[in-house]
Amino acid sequence: MNFDQAKELSFLVPWKTAECFTGPDCWCRIILPVEPILYNHPESPDVKHEYFIVDAGALDQETAEYFVDLHNSCLERIAQITPSNQELLNMIDKRNKIVSDAMVKILQEKPIDKDCGISQ
Ligand SMILES: [Zn+2]
Repeated sequence: MNFDQAKELSFLVPWKTAECFTGPDCWCRIILPVEPILYNHPESPDVKHEYFIVDAGALDQETAEYFVDLHNSCLERIAQITPSNQELLNMIDKRNKIVSDAMVKILQEKPIDKDCGISQ
């Protein structure tokens, strides 16, 4: 995985905040994926680097936590929407199947009246 792939993947996974090397008393917090994303740099292909969304010294704790909450709640909403949409599609499919089965049954039992004009 290269840097761009790591970045792309990072948008799809939950984030967390973490303390920088200075420790809990530092004003800043880093933002990183909950599960580490490792990537290779072209200049050092054998070394795995951990991808950080926001590195140390850029965001204060409150803002970092705000962004993480925003991102994670957005992911949760997407996860909630997708299965229910799928469920809805399955219900529509199932209903269409019932309707089309019923129509076939009716048409087989009672052929279209050729005199009604609609079938011409
Ligand atoms: Zn810091």
